[in-house]
Formats: sequence, C-alpha cells, structure tokens
Amino acid sequence: MTLERILLNNLYCKLVYDINGKKILKENINYKECYCCSNSNIKHIICKVENSPHYEYVKGDKENYINYMLNAGEYAGYGLEHGFDIFNKLIKEFSISKMGIIKCVLINNKYIIEDGVHRSSILLNLEHKFAWVNIID
Ligand SMILES: [Zn+2]
Repeated sequence: MTLERILLNNLYCKLVYDINGKKILKENINYKECYCCSNSNIKHIICKVENSPHYEYVKGDKENYINYMLNAGEYAGYGLEHGFDIFNKLIKEFSISKMGIIKCVLINNKYIIEDGVHRSSILLNLEHKFAWVNIID
C-alpha cells in the first residue's frame, strides 16, 4: 500500500451497470468499459467522480442515485454499508479530519476507487482538488 495525494479529477468510480441483462444506470457518454467483468453476469462501468450519480446527489440532484441504489441493491452496498440516511448524514456532518482514507487500485493507469466514492463526491462538491488515497496492490 502507498499513500498518495491524487487529483480528485483523476479518480474513477466503478459502478454496477447491468445485472443479468437488467440495466441499472442510464446510458451516459462518460461511462467507460470496466476491466473486471466482461465474463460476468454483473457488469460495471468506470466513470470519473464528477460523472457519478453520487456526485449529482451531493449537489442536490438525487433521482439518479436513488434509482441506482434501489436497482443495484446489495451489489452497490445498498442496505449494507450504504443507504440514503447514511449518505445524508455523511454529507451533513462531513469533516476532513474524520473522513478517513480513500482506497484505490491502479489499473490501466486509472485510479479506481474501491472504498470512498461517497466521500470523494462530497470533497469534490466542497471544491477540494486533491484527496489522500491509499493505493492497494
Ligand atoms: Zn467490472
């Protein structure tokens, strides 16, 4: 593991896109193919934090995130570590000193968030430019 300060604009989210042929997210020109799931029934897309429904939610445009969580369910951590009340609380009570470290993997020269999409979205909305990120081997 290495700790690095990374531009938020260089962080990517891995989101659930398709479960057994059921589309979870609307098509979007900013979505790129995922590296991990070409032979899986559960397909992801990769996108920058600024193009995620999570960031839209923090900005107050909540519909796409709500639909994403309801459609993806446990595959997006909904009802497990994530939920609307938890996210609302995280936004309301956010503080840099308590936010912890974002975890990423570096694949094909992209920093892909493993843990911290919600926190990265909040940081971006607060007009931060960088985040401390643990790069997992
Ligand atoms: Zn994948």
